[in-house]
Amino acid sequence: MSAEATSAATGEVIVARYGELWLKGKNRREFERALVRNVRGAVEPISPCTIERATGQIIVVPEGRVHDVTERVREVFGFSSVSRARTISRELAADPEEIAKVAAVVFAEALESRPRNRTISFRVQTRRGDKRYPLVSSELSRFVADRILPPYEDRIRVQLTRPELTLGIHVRPERVYVYADRLSAAGGLPVGTLGRAVSLLSGGIDSPVASWMAMKRGCTVSFAAFHSYPYVGEPYRAKVRGLVRRLGRFQNKSVLYEVPFAEIQVAIRDACPESYRTVLYRRMMQRIATAIAKREKAGALITGECLGQVASQTLENLTCIGAASGLPVLRPLIAFDKTETIEIARRIGTFELSIEPEPDCCTVFQPTKPIIRGSLSVCEDAESNLDVDALVRDALERTERIVVE
Ligand code: ATP
Ligand code: MG
Repeated sequence: MSAEATSAATGEVIVARYGELWLKGKNRREFERALVRNVRGAVEPISPCTIERATGQIIVVPEGRVHDVTERVREVFGFSSVSRARTISRELAADPEEIAKVAAVVFAEALESRPRNRTISFRVQTRRGDKRYPLVSSELSRFVADRILPPYEDRIRVQLTRPELTLGIHVRPERVYVYADRLSAAGGLPVGTLGRAVSLLSGGIDSPVASWMAMKRGCTVSFAAFHSYPYVGEPYRAKVRGLVRRLGRFQNKSVLYEVPFAEIQVAIRDACPESYRTVLYRRMMQRIATAIAKREKAGALITGECLGQVASQTLENLTCIGAASGLPVLRPLIAFDKTETIEIARRIGTFELSIEPEPDCCTVFQPTKPIIRGSLSVCEDAESNLDVDALVRDALERTERIVVE
């Protein structure tokens, strides 16, 4: 059986830590409940797991595939760091020699991946979450260091502040945990603790990143995507669904509204000034997304807009666009450079899908000279030539709601 096959045999678990200083009372319970729920949703497709709550951390005990489960836990919002740990039952751990034996294994594993041609600074750090343990923290740290260091004296130098390698020992009432590396985690807040928002998801690079950033701050995100069938066809839809599926890794289950937009575009083309088309398209998107938000009990809209990134994203145009929504419009990327957005897109796995060259609805009847500094009164004048309510209602009636697991 491979090392990955079972963690029960090796006692390997995943310790995921969260910052807790600001958490109080009811908030705390909600936060922890959401964390457990989100972790369960994230890891269960990989391996059956037991999930335990402990102060300031959540312990995941997987039946197998420890590496893959660890990587998934690192993506769940709300954790500050994650470690793979080996465990010792409290009965066994009463004898510190047993802790030292496990520590020696963890230490040897950690050294395997580190350079051999220079010395490595090191310490043992013990935390006692259970004060009944017979040795105090410093005694246990020293005891273990004395046992595990001798074979490595030429490679290791003890250094108590900011060492390169820390072997952590955590004595808790249920068991003792030993780990070597603290892996970075996604940070943020558990999805679901800050309510729901509707993200306007195009097939581009920006809006998936904006959606991810809203999830990172605790929002559950529902998606609205506008398509211009028959001008822009099925491959665009498949691309958007792919993006939603990819983003679903961060919140387990997503709702996607697919809104037919061609009729609205035709109406705008036929009745409004050409240079205002793009801004007017966006205003209609805002109205429809606001209606969807009502249905989803969402409190805000999210877009991938960014100041000045394209000629249309000026303060004036963003004002015209936002004014069509009855809800706050959150623009997480507002001050990002494209390179910063692309870096995140690559990291969260949306970039490759986003750059597939599928045109979206905005390319339909594109104006030759789009307005740069739009005026709200011109928008409203132009829209007086349209039956806005009927267009919105009609699009909503033909909208498809799908759940992407
Ligand atoms: P993106 O990379 O997200 O497409 P962008 O920089 O290309 O953004 P625009 O195409 O002007 O900018 O779109 C601005 C925002 O409007 C998008 O980030 C998205 O939130 C929303 N949007 C644009 N087109 C659509 C669409 N077809 N469906 C849903 N939302 C859209
Ligand atoms: Mg775009």
